[in-house]
Amino acid sequence: MQEVSANQQADVIVIGAGAAGLFCAIEAGKRGRKVVVIDHAKRLGGKILMSGGGRCNFTNMYASHENFICENPHFCKSALSQYTQWDFIALVNEHGIAYHEKTLGQLFCDHSAKDIVDMLLAECKKANVVIKNRTEVSTVAEVTDTEGFRYAVETSQGTMLCESLVIATGGLSMPKLGATPYGYKVAEQFGLPIIPTKAALVPFTLHEQDKAVIGELSGISVDANAQCNKVNFNENILFTHRGLSGPAVLQISSYWEPGQAVEFNLFPNGDLLNDLQQQQQDSPDTQLSTALSKHYPKRFVTAALPYFDVANKPLKQYTPKELASAAEAFTQWQLKPNGTEGYRTAEVTLGGVNTDYISSKTMEVKQQKGLFFIGEVLDVTGWLGGYNFQWAWSSGYVAGQVV
Ligand SMILES: Cc1cc2nc3c(=O)[nH]c(=O)nc-3n(C[C@H](O)[C@H](O)[C@H](O)COP(=O)(O)OP(=O)(O)OC[C@H]3O[C@@H](n4cnc5c(N)ncnc54)[C@H](O)[C@@H]3O)c2cc1C
Repeated sequence: MQEVSANQQADVIVIGAGAAGLFCAIEAGKRGRKVVVIDHAKRLGGKILMSGGGRCNFTNMYASHENFICENPHFCKSALSQYTQWDFIALVNEHGIAYHEKTLGQLFCDHSAKDIVDMLLAECKKANVVIKNRTEVSTVAEVTDTEGFRYAVETSQGTMLCESLVIATGGLSMPKLGATPYGYKVAEQFGLPIIPTKAALVPFTLHEQDKAVIGELSGISVDANAQCNKVNFNENILFTHRGLSGPAVLQISSYWEPGQAVEFNLFPNGDLLNDLQQQQQDSPDTQLSTALSKHYPKRFVTAALPYFDVANKPLKQYTPKELASAAEAFTQWQLKPNGTEGYRTAEVTLGGVNTDYISSKTMEVKQQKGLFFIGEVLDVTGWLGGYNFQWAWSSGYVAGQVV
């Protein structure tokens, strides 16, 4: 190991200047700890800036452990209760950032996600956190022979020593924004298993026969309930030229396994059969396509009827059984996705560092003093709707109290 100057020493080194890493650094800095955050990216907070369509869905008013997927469903309870959505909202208020609830408790900035990045950087400055971006990390190692220091981090700017080492390198989604598997590599180095990773909150791709029809509907969105593996989400779906997206699809993608079908109810907030029966009575000469166009865009109905193999004729010509099966085609649509768009467009990574080896109260590795994992690198994956950032804040906060 090369010689280490005093300015290459810190109480805490955080690898990864994303949401979790910066938040942990702020909290540790507030305690008077000397903190250095290292990131290889050119731009700080890249993912935050892109998030929520540029407006950052920074938390959810209804966040609870039930909105997360983790092999241990209790793991995230402690951190989420030590630092809640209301604590983060108070910080946002303190910085005078304007925000609104878009839907289902999801809070977005009124102006720009940059408000959140600016807030984090201002808090880092106040807490004397040093941020070194454009800095590569090659290795981390445990050291035993140096006063008080437990870890040595080899970087493109030399060797650095620290007492506490925090891994906040996130998941694998969006490699363009700097995502790497480095955090998993460090975990494995210290003997921690990784729960297999998978792209999540990600659009579905389709088999050719489905794509031929659905690709033509690009840009159309309809309300839907998407169901798979006994979990369902009631939001909307969006047809794209590549496949199927929209909130209900992204949500269910986290529960879907390759080869499985997803069931979509395209009339989730009412009784379609009842509606068609009523229209049959009131206006028997109306074509089925016209009756359905009361609820869906015309272009969608025109493509959907032949796709679902449903004849289009005046309502009076349908037997009760035929009308029921027409309604069923729209309310019990079974679609087998071909796959997902993968990490290129996924919002998050399912799986990660096995939480059985991590203290749920502090995020410290149980058998490895001074080593912490926070944020998305852990096997904790939130639903769509601000939950993933809340996990970054909460896990970063609890580690920040003890590093
Ligand atoms: C397009 C998009 C939109 C999203 N929108 C939302 C939203 O609106 N609301 C929400 O709650 N969640 C959203 N998410 C998810 C959310 O952004 C993540 O869950 C969250 O950023 C995870 O925080 P993190 O700090 O753990 O990881 P990240 O934010 O991914 O940060 C990890 C950091 O580590 C750095 N790093 C990685 N490897 C190395 C290495 N080897 N050396 C040095 N540095 C390294 C990276 O450059 C990065 O800066 C979105 C995600 C995407 C991709």
